Amino acid sequence: LAVLLGVSRTTAINAYRQLEEMGLISTRVGSGTYVAEQPKPQPAVRAVPWSQLFTPTPNTQLSSIIRELIAAAADGDTIPLAAGMPDPAFYPFDDFNRLFALQSSRFKSSDLGHIPTEGYLPLRRTLAGLLTERGIDAAVENTMIVSGSQQGLYLVTKLFLEPGDYVIVESPTYLGAIQVFSAANARLLSLPASKRFALDILEDYLIRYRPKLLYMMPTFKNPSGDVMALEERRELLRLAAKHRLVIVEDDPYGELYYEQQPPPSLKALDTYGGVIALGTFSKILFPGLRTGWVVAPDIVINRFAMEKQYIDLHSSNLSQRMLYDYLSAGLLAGHLTLVREQYKKRRDFFAGALKQYCSPYLSFTMPLGGFYFWGTLSQGMLTRQLLHEAAKTGVSFVPGEAFYADNSGNRELRLCFVTHSEARLLEGVKRLGQALQVMAQN
Ligand code: PMP
Repeated sequence: LAVLLGVSRTTAINAYRQLEEMGLISTRVGSGTYVAEQPKPQPAVRAVPWSQLFTPTPNTQLSSIIRELIAAAADGDTIPLAAGMPDPAFYPFDDFNRLFALQSSRFKSSDLGHIPTEGYLPLRRTLAGLLTERGIDAAVENTMIVSGSQQGLYLVTKLFLEPGDYVIVESPTYLGAIQVFSAANARLLSLPASKRFALDILEDYLIRYRPKLLYMMPTFKNPSGDVMALEERRELLRLAAKHRLVIVEDDPYGELYYEQQPPPSLKALDTYGGVIALGTFSKILFPGLRTGWVVAPDIVINRFAMEKQYIDLHSSNLSQRMLYDYLSAGLLAGHLTLVREQYKKRRDFFAGALKQYCSPYLSFTMPLGGFYFWGTLSQGMLTRQLLHEAAKTGVSFVPGEAFYADNSGNRELRLCFVTHSEARLLEGVKRLGQALQVMAQN
């Protein structure tokens, strides 16, 4: 349509949406767009012109299309390998049920009122202790609780980025970070993935564009699973210190290692005080807790707290109290041992299944930790096309384009291997294999 009318793709897609809203066409992923048999009845008057009242929408067209494709693929019997979710079967139900029952039988009025924006003090203390064990110099004043690390990313954006500011991101990188930086109209500079960290390109960017931030995930990256070597971390920090570069280190997966422990975090190695560390309990416990943290210099924490006040005053004290009780009872270490063992088995199983059912069309490297396999399709095959075929065979994944700020990645895909049992993973991989076979025959 865009080509026929000589308009941009976005205009064409918006036109399709309006037609669909008016009930004139219907769209089904995998089978196309049809003229609707009976238009939807329209309300006589539109009371409020909603779309004219909204602030300008950020340019996140690509990711919203991908969300739709994934949502459509998640219909019915589809096996979703798209979302980055821990397996609910391993959620620590018994511990949290017990702690919740105990806690709720003893609520005092102070438990149900407001707490400081920076978080529930006993939890901040415990967390600072845990982080100190991991080599991070985290005093309580430097440690703040946020509603998931996604909120941490939002706060970073609010604090530092004005429209037109440059941010350096790895390529590929976390979709949620691309979205939040783009929504602030920041300009993203991509650091290409390479065997060795691209220090020369980084230095060139630093001199040429004076970026405000570098957003990094050094350990078990989402989506690629890669780990940055210790020496590379040190080199990066030396360069960052020379240019007084602020690094935002996002580390949701560092504790989920399946071989040896990964190198210390950038924050643990930081001697110039320029690293802001983000962490979360979403991947190691469960995402509904909505509890993450930020470690940063006092002056930054103070501004974070001011901005967070505008959003939600503070994160839920009930979640924070429960997490505090859980950590104080020393239950996290045992849980981590359990999930590392289980996810390692799944990783090995998944790799075997991919080799058996998806060769020679899909290649991948074995992740040493985290949640994801990052695959590449053979020359001439596109992941968007595969997503349509996979919707028919009943399996979903995230197409690679979602993780690039520069529209590349059209032969790549991310598959999450931790959420399902081996039997379901096997079925998912078989269905992916069938979709690949169909593509190979066309
Ligand atoms: N950063 C990365 C790299 C992630 O993968 C995720 C979860 N998908 C988040 C941040 C956000 O996690 P949460 O807000 O649940 O802590």
